[in-house]
Amino acid sequence: MTEFIIASNNAKKIMELDRILNPLGIRAVTAKSRGISLDDVEETGETFAENAELKARAAFERTGMPSVADDSGLSVDALGGEPGVYSARYAGEGATDEQKIAKLLKNLEGVPAQKRTAHFTSSICCIIDENTVIRAEGKCFGVIADSPRGSGGFGYDPVFLSDDTGDGRSFAELSPEEKDRISHRGRSLRELSEKLGGLFENGTIK
Ligand code: IMP
Repeated sequence: MTEFIIASNNAKKIMELDRILNPLGIRAVTAKSRGISLDDVEETGETFAENAELKARAAFERTGMPSVADDSGLSVDALGGEPGVYSARYAGEGATDEQKIAKLLKNLEGVPAQKRTAHFTSSICCIIDENTVIRAEGKCFGVIADSPRGSGGFGYDPVFLSDDTGDGRSFAELSPEEKDRISHRGRSLRELSEKLGGLFENGTIK
C-alpha cells in the first residue's frame, strides 16, 4: 500500500481520510509516525484553500511523501464572513465550543432570521508530487439559529440549520450519515475521492 501523510493531529480526520483512501490502495499515516512534527506550521492564509495548501506543502516538503491537509470553518454573512479562517480560535486559543457559540450568538444579537445566512467550507489540498496537486472544496449553506440545539457533532453544529435539511433540525440533531450526505466535508471528501480515483489504482498512479 502507498502511504499518504495526513497533515493533522485530529484522529477523526485521519480515520475519515483513511476510509476514503483505502479503496485506492492508499493508507493514511501521520507525520508524527515518521518522527516529523508539523506543530509549528502556522495557518496564515486568508482563505481555507490557502491554509490547506500551506499545511499540505509543509508536510510534503518535510516528509518527501504525498501529503493531504484540510481546512474548514464557518462564514456568517451578517458578520462580513467571520469567523471564517478563525473559526477554531474565534473565542481565543483553547476556548470551548460552547464559548465560541456564545460569542457568535452575541455578535448576531438583534439580527433577524432572514439575515442570519451562513455557510461552512471545507478545503482539501493533496500534493502527490511537485507537478501533481489536487484540490477539492465543499460548501454547505444555511442559517444561524437563535439558540443551540442537539448534542451530536462538534464546533458550531448546534446553531447551524442547513438549507438541505429543510426541517429546522440543527447539524447537531442529524445522524453522522445524514450530516455526511450534505455537509461541506462530505462534499469535499467525495470530490477528493473522485479526483484521486481518476489518478490512482492499487496504490500507484495509472
Ligand atoms: P480546522 O479545519 O481543524 O482548522 O477547524 C475548523 C473549525 O471550524 C473547527 O474547530 C470548528 O469550530 C469549525 N468547523 C469546521 N467544520 C465544522 C462542522 O462540520 N461543524 C461545526 N463546526 C465546524
